[in-house]
Amino acid sequence: MAGIESIANNANINNEFERVYPSQPIPTEQALWFPFQGQKLLVKTQDQGITLLQGDQELLANIKHEELLYIGRYKGQPCIASALDPEEPLPGDWKAFGLRELYNLMPGFEYNIATYASQLINWHKTSRYCPVCGSPMVSVEGGWGRSCVRGDYTGYPAVIPAIIVLIHDGKRMLMAHKAGWGKRYGLIAGFVEPGETLEECVHREVKEEAGIEIEDLQYMNSQPWPFPSQLMIGFMARYKSGVVQPQDNELDDVRWFSSDTLPELPPPSSLAYILISSWLKQYGNQQ
Ligand SMILES: [Zn+2]
Repeated sequence: MAGIESIANNANINNEFERVYPSQPIPTEQALWFPFQGQKLLVKTQDQGITLLQGDQELLANIKHEELLYIGRYKGQPCIASALDPEEPLPGDWKAFGLRELYNLMPGFEYNIATYASQLINWHKTSRYCPVCGSPMVSVEGGWGRSCVRGDYTGYPAVIPAIIVLIHDGKRMLMAHKAGWGKRYGLIAGFVEPGETLEECVHREVKEEAGIEIEDLQYMNSQPWPFPSQLMIGFMARYKSGVVQPQDNELDDVRWFSSDTLPELPPPSSLAYILISSWLKQYGNQQ
């Protein structure tokens, strides 16, 4: 099991992205741009697919940016997030895509930076005023936090933890189905409650959604999931006891699958798919 864990975790670290925090000045050199118009990222579409916009400030001086954030460096190149006016006219070869559409169309690490950019832009948009007294909020030095000018509140961009777990009994794995998913099955997942450890959350969600007990819980991998600000935390666990049965109204089916009877799976590069692949590598030939 240690082998799988280390493979999963090493593949999951982006050493080439270095974060930068306020109040570093916006670089004027050639940069990677993450401009958002509403919730959509503007990219270039070319014959070979989708590429991030690149250019210096001069290139983009003719576009009106409502917000500019210097968020980091990728492979040494500055990354700049920006928010554009919804009415701003754009060059003909720029195209707007929702982040869900871009998932699987962009390299994973670039996609993760895009989701980071999107969350920071949204955070700035929604944290202009103090939720306690309504006074303006200003940036906290050295981080993305924002503080009320009267000093009664400081907020930070939210990261909402959610667990996802692959449960197996050595020969089969447990998959769940929600109304509206068509033929596709996924894994048991759910949000962490306040005051709960990740381990408690996994046990609770499994009990609530499938009605069973698990053991040998093991952390595998994680993935930011920006809809809107989740961090998916992936586990593997072994079935212990109980009868599998959907327990809440969210799921309409929960059942065991062996590797030769798999249903339609979640999309590649989703954390669910990565967990399923890890399990198949280890247990897929033990029918
Ligand atoms: Zn205040």
